[in-house]
Amino acid sequence: EIFVSPDIAICDECKEELYDPKNRRYLHPFINCTCCGPRLTILDALPYDRERTSMKEFPMCPDCAKEYYDPETRRYDAQPVCCNDCGPEVYLIGRSERGRDAITYTRQVIHDGGIVAIKGIGGFHLCCDATNEEAVSRLRTLKCRPAKPFAIMAKDETVVKRECIVTPEQEAILTGHQKPILLLDRRSKEHRKENQPQSENISETRLASSVGPGNPKIGVMLPYAPVQLLIFQYDDGIEMPDLLVMTSGNTSGAPICRDDEEAVAELSHLCDAILSHDRKIRIRADDTVMDFYKNEPYMIRRSRGYAPLPFMTSVDWKGQVLAVGGELKNTFCIGVDSRFYPSPYVGDLEDLRTVKALQETIHRFRTLLEVEPQVVVCDLHPKYNSTVVAEKLGYPMLQVQHHYAHVLSCMTENDCQEPVIGVSFDGTGYGTDGTIWGGEILLADYQDFTRFGSITPFLQIGGDASAKEGWRIAVSMIYGFTKDREKAWEIIEKLGLCSEQESKVQFTMADRKINAVMSTSAGRLFDAVSAILGIRRQSSFEGEASTALQFAAEAFEQKQTSDLSERHNIRQELIFESEEHCILNTEALVQQIVEAKLQGADSGALAYLFHRTLAEQIVAACKAAREHSGRAKVALSGGVFQNRLLLRLTEEGLEQEGFEVLRHHMIPPNDGGIAIGQAAYGLYYLQNVKKEI
Ligand code: ZN
Ligand code: ZN
Ligand code: FE
Repeated sequence: EIFVSPDIAICDECKEELYDPKNRRYLHPFINCTCCGPRLTILDALPYDRERTSMKEFPMCPDCAKEYYDPETRRYDAQPVCCNDCGPEVYLIGRSERGRDAITYTRQVIHDGGIVAIKGIGGFHLCCDATNEEAVSRLRTLKCRPAKPFAIMAKDETVVKRECIVTPEQEAILTGHQKPILLLDRRSKEHRKENQPQSENISETRLASSVGPGNPKIGVMLPYAPVQLLIFQYDDGIEMPDLLVMTSGNTSGAPICRDDEEAVAELSHLCDAILSHDRKIRIRADDTVMDFYKNEPYMIRRSRGYAPLPFMTSVDWKGQVLAVGGELKNTFCIGVDSRFYPSPYVGDLEDLRTVKALQETIHRFRTLLEVEPQVVVCDLHPKYNSTVVAEKLGYPMLQVQHHYAHVLSCMTENDCQEPVIGVSFDGTGYGTDGTIWGGEILLADYQDFTRFGSITPFLQIGGDASAKEGWRIAVSMIYGFTKDREKAWEIIEKLGLCSEQESKVQFTMADRKINAVMSTSAGRLFDAVSAILGIRRQSSFEGEASTALQFAAEAFEQKQTSDLSERHNIRQELIFESEEHCILNTEALVQQIVEAKLQGADSGALAYLFHRTLAEQIVAACKAAREHSGRAKVALSGGVFQNRLLLRLTEEGLEQEGFEVLRHHMIPPNDGGIAIGQAAYGLYYLQNVKKEI
């Protein structure tokens, strides 16, 4: 069994040495030891020793060598060991400052409200003062990112607690050795007053409001690379903020920059300085993003600190497969017998630079894990770049339907060997019938699946634009159930969804089926409801409209003391087409929401009722599926289940009905998680199917 260590955040002992003026590694930006430091990101090949890492270029000085060979020291056999005399060096690109001067210059620029690109462990970050409204707004303008929340790096735990509510379980992860970005609830004003009103420290947020506009949560991490600690605290007398924006250093869509050439080409125009260093990054590793659900980690993006640790399962399959994953949030996965090695986050393959990064990283992983795949597994979508990458590899190829792969991913993560009812809810996937799927009830095992049900199909008009502009979906749905231009326009006008001209264009496209596909996308359903309720007409980033809808529903739920007295005539309904297929009647649900909204019902209440009714419909569909198939295990997967309100309502509803519910924990429910499901399909195929063919 091959073990490749993920990168490990700086340990407490190294941190102490870093700030000990008597230590020979005082303020050394690359301090590390046997317990901490870069691993995967500097690795060329196995076995892991200095000769096969990017530390090869830095011969150890006699003092470091002494520690390296002495089992009594903290640096015995620590491959990246180095010091101020022999290690890599930080420098500014395009300026003369190096070492100490480069760090001071960086701190000064950030202090003065500027933006600096900083090379860390797995790539560059763009960094600025997160307490400086002007600096953050400028970064938004430069990055063409009007609203998507920025990740924050806080100086220490105390600062995180000043800004956010942190449970002991979250604190353990926050301060642990993986140092992911944690999505934490921000302290509200009321919460601040209730808790320790006397302590000035906790009474006020210092975070600039444009860090995460309108978002009740904030993504926070603590410094994990020594250089990041030095940005916060140094001996040059500059007073630094205790919160920094730390967003991936890339242009939208492209992979995170990992070397100077990429940084100069892609980041120069986004920042005032670039702080780099000469230790090469072999494999990119974006920051891991983790939410919490029921006080347990709930993975959103599994990358630095976690990848490529394998998932072990109890199956006795034999074989080697490579699964290339999906198109967005791509990760791939290598499956060897019963072990699954998910890659770090690669990114969105719509950008060809990301496609190249995928190919490179696949190659590196295959070498590291010494794998010769017997099959390559990819998505069913013929036009996905991941499918093209898979084809080019030249191995026998298997294609797996997207939502089925989501379900398999959830089954694999939970080491489930029995057939399940899969609830796979997400934005988009290519269906076996050539239409867009996205709100699916599947009967699945490792061999095959059947589509037992879905939400009501609707016409998705306008290609890519419809994925960003929920109002288009709303208009199409309203036209769909009124089946009348005049009636539809009357509603659309009252809801303020679009202009008359725009609606006419939508109607005509619908009538003539121009750029229109049948779709059961659950993500688009959320976008449409968000638009109908006047919460978000469109999204400037993926999930903006749907998460705003979720936040409105959650805010309503929190205020609500007793059960909803009035349901605004919103009923859960299921329509059965036949015994083998059911439709969750989301069309009726949308119609009822439209009517209630027009009658003046509160948008928050309707947002909540939408979540609750949809969850009830899912439960009812699962009951029908249980009756039909005898299965009582349900696997919940797909990006829509990042929505913790829907997840909770669905999970609790199912449990009340006696189902056993499987959900994700350390594998993302979104498309970042499907590769492991594809890999399981491939291994099962090698073990059980291929023999018979
Ligand atoms: Zn250490
Ligand atoms: Zn040294
Ligand atoms: Fe998906």
